[in-house]
Amino acid sequence: MSTRDGLDWQRVQALIAAERADYAARNPESARLAGQAAQHLLFGVPMHWMNDWSTPFPLTVREASGARFRDADGHEYVDFCLGDTGAMFGHAPQPVAQAIARQSARGYTAMLPSEDAGPVAAELARRFGLPYWQFALSASDANRFVLRWLRAATGRSRVLVFNGCYHGTVDDVFVDLVNGVPAQRDSLLGQVHKLTDHTVVVEFNDLPALEAALAQGDIACVLAEPVMTNVGMVLPQQGYWEAAQQLIKQHGALLVIDETHTISSGPGGYARAHGMQPDALVVGKPVGGGIPCAVYGFTEELARRVEHAKRSAPPGHSGIGTTLSANMFAMAAMRANLEQVMTELAYQHMFALASQLADGLRDIIARHRLPWCVTQVGARTEFQFAATPPRNGSEAQAIMDGELEQAIHLYLLNRGLLITPFHNMLLVCPATTADDVARLLSAFSSFLADTIQIQI
Ligand code: PMP
Repeated sequence: MSTRDGLDWQRVQALIAAERADYAARNPESARLAGQAAQHLLFGVPMHWMNDWSTPFPLTVREASGARFRDADGHEYVDFCLGDTGAMFGHAPQPVAQAIARQSARGYTAMLPSEDAGPVAAELARRFGLPYWQFALSASDANRFVLRWLRAATGRSRVLVFNGCYHGTVDDVFVDLVNGVPAQRDSLLGQVHKLTDHTVVVEFNDLPALEAALAQGDIACVLAEPVMTNVGMVLPQQGYWEAAQQLIKQHGALLVIDETHTISSGPGGYARAHGMQPDALVVGKPVGGGIPCAVYGFTEELARRVEHAKRSAPPGHSGIGTTLSANMFAMAAMRANLEQVMTELAYQHMFALASQLADGLRDIIARHRLPWCVTQVGARTEFQFAATPPRNGSEAQAIMDGELEQAIHLYLLNRGLLITPFHNMLLVCPATTADDVARLLSAFSSFLADTIQIQI
């Protein structure tokens, strides 16, 4: 089976060339700005990976609001990428915009708690069911700090992750299974420590492998997304998490659930919606409406162990937290976002539209007889180039096809529709409309009609 089965690859390639030319012709101002920026930006972009989109040169954004943004050439786009979840509740949601406008004249950072801190923590406790919280500036930082707390609290050094995971720029978890053997991810730059000494990696949905690793008795914690979302999407099999949680507990390890993407599942994330009981939980990106911040929470029991670890350590730098963490600006954004934007009502709207999107994609794929599948996790939908959904990271990796993805993404972009790069993820936000979804479906269908192998 190939990811290209059913497609006429020559037509795909001809289409890519035509779409690249079309993109260049449509976006003279973005081209000019990209050329100018390249004089002083390394790689020509403020973040090197901004070059890895499907476009011949970066698209420059002028402004974004709700489910839409406008580029430097004045084209309007419906945004199904939404900053890869950072803007999952829409760009510049009104309550957040107002809260940060209010805060903008009242100070940003003082290395002291603001009046919003208590209410934000109380709201996090209410919706995620964990009583104690801390803050960071990014989900990467939050994950890094949680690993540090948990290693300190348990006195164990090893962390277990699932093959193909991504939890941000947390060096420890850049370990993959290569032909069944743990190896440091080749792409990781400048890392000189041997990560495989303290990181164990197993396939998702493989209980015997998890049990064998835990049985060594040296795993501090399992760090996992409840559904893998960064290697395409991989759902847990029926009963997987129930059994996995039991094993983790039985072997004295802790479970950290990273809800940064799966917060698409509901106001309390996937774990709450599915009755999971993690020891620690992390959410970043959208928690402050896209303002840089992240949160992590602990159970009562873990909180006591963590406090004990801190009190038992000599005074001085803990390696946890950064100067601007929990700053009053981010705190104001989180309070407004949690209380007024990430509401039950907003989620209901998003779920309905995501279902319309997922059902529509399945229908179009079936009509074109392509061996592709669609997975939906709340407001998050992914299409993948295989008839059956992958069960683990290796299977998910095997059905990724960067060239095909980019062909689809560029085709959509030239028609005013943005989806997430590097895989095929589509998010809807409270401002997305049924018409927006219909437009996406229609363009997706046209792409397939233009590239499908003609049956003779
Ligand atoms: N956790 C998960 C599940 C993620 O997908 C990401 C980023 N894609 C992160 C953490 C890191 O987020 P950030 O880059 O904002 O630190």
